Amino acid sequence: MILPDFLQNLLHFFIAYGWVFSLPILERFWYIQKKPLLRQGFISDLLYPYHPFGIEFFIIMGVAIYVFPAEHNGYLQGYLSDKSFFYTMIILIILGEIVFYTAHYYSHKIPVLWEFHRVHHSSTTLDSLSTSRFHILDRALFTAPILIIIAYLAPRPEVVLIYEFARGFMDRFIHSNLNVPRSLHKLLISSPHFHRWHHAQDKEAWDTNFSGNFIFMDLIFKTAYDPDPSIKPPPTTFGEDGYTNNIILHQLLPFHFLLKKTQFYTVFCQKMNLYYQQIRDHKWHQQLSRFKWVREL
Ligand SMILES: [Zn+2]
Ligand SMILES: [Zn+2]
Repeated sequence: MILPDFLQNLLHFFIAYGWVFSLPILERFWYIQKKPLLRQGFISDLLYPYHPFGIEFFIIMGVAIYVFPAEHNGYLQGYLSDKSFFYTMIILIILGEIVFYTAHYYSHKIPVLWEFHRVHHSSTTLDSLSTSRFHILDRALFTAPILIIIAYLAPRPEVVLIYEFARGFMDRFIHSNLNVPRSLHKLLISSPHFHRWHHAQDKEAWDTNFSGNFIFMDLIFKTAYDPDPSIKPPPTTFGEDGYTNNIILHQLLPFHFLLKKTQFYTVFCQKMNLYYQQIRDHKWHQQLSRFKWVREL
């Protein structure tokens, strides 16, 4: 099956731009919670899908080139190259969910990994724009394994393109504010209702709903939390109050929090604070502080 050029271009367009800009429009009309479009962190979340810190891409490519020679010599290497569309798609979906669930589970359970994944959980507004808010190393943890598996099993490129198109939609869909039927869960498809619990501040929902686009892994490992809304009202508060919305600080803060656990860095920060205090106490700073714009810097 070779896709016509115009269809390939359309799929590429939707993966890169279509879902990013179409879902926020739908969320204006068909929402779970009424929220302003220009909420806190709007600019950062708009920059996220297009930011230039694509370090994880080089990490993934480096690993993939190291692991695989060009020839298909390994066990099952190139296995999907001659399989049918539906069979290939089902295998990709199952493998994608297993990899996503595993990476996601450990990014919550291992403290070092959590500091990086915490960035994704920092947004206090859950909408489709908040989907891409990821630390680059955290995103690498989620995407590297499935990219390596795809490179190894070598499915046909057009199947991978359709898979990425569907996955691009589902990633944004489950983070969206769209009020869709909950009956999707009966078909094992995830939804905004299901993933909202994963981002909720409600303590009973912590460390639940790790699945990506289908919910079967949470059902198998008994980590699904999906109470009937007539018994338990849907969550209304998300993320971490007080965590920065700044895209640059998102990339630096995990290192700061991890280094803070070391004696050397704690002493360094204390010294920096002392210097900062001396600057604040200086007469020139006192004079400048009379200007409102300086105080707000
Ligand atoms: Zn998470
Ligand atoms: Zn999420």
